[in-house]
Amino acid sequence: MKMKPFNIALVAHDHKKNALIDWVKYNLDMLKPHNLYATGTTGRLLETKLGISINKMQSGPLGGDLQIGAMISEEKIDLLIFFWDPLEAQPHDPDIKALLRIAVVWNIPVACNRASADYIISSSLMSENYIRELPDYDDYNNRMNR
Ligand code: PGA
Repeated sequence: MKMKPFNIALVAHDHKKNALIDWVKYNLDMLKPHNLYATGTTGRLLETKLGISINKMQSGPLGGDLQIGAMISEEKIDLLIFFWDPLEAQPHDPDIKALLRIAVVWNIPVACNRASADYIISSSLMSENYIRELPDYDDYNNRMNR
């Protein structure tokens, strides 16, 4: 059975960009069959350093995190690898929170560090046509008042 490619979003804050590039380089063969998306600078760096093709959003602080979040809510992203920096304040902190939140809302697997990303990429579910459970928000959508 042919595997459907995943749509994988890659995001890294400035001090974590090298860590993400290393991770993508190490896992390039695993990642190549999939569709890769990234925030602007992360995407440009991955393309330049690794010679791969990435669907690039705006830079994170210019709305890229929110664009990826919107894609998640439209069921267009299957996996989020987001190496955010726990040691530096970011100008777009609300967007980061929004991205992490919407990934949970839509039951997207998220890795925020290399160990978690390693667990996900080496999961047998990566090579199956895994269909994640989609939360049922009908009751929420149909509510008339709170
Ligand atoms: P960048 O954005 O890839 O454009 O640097 C990352 C982020 O800060 O969300």
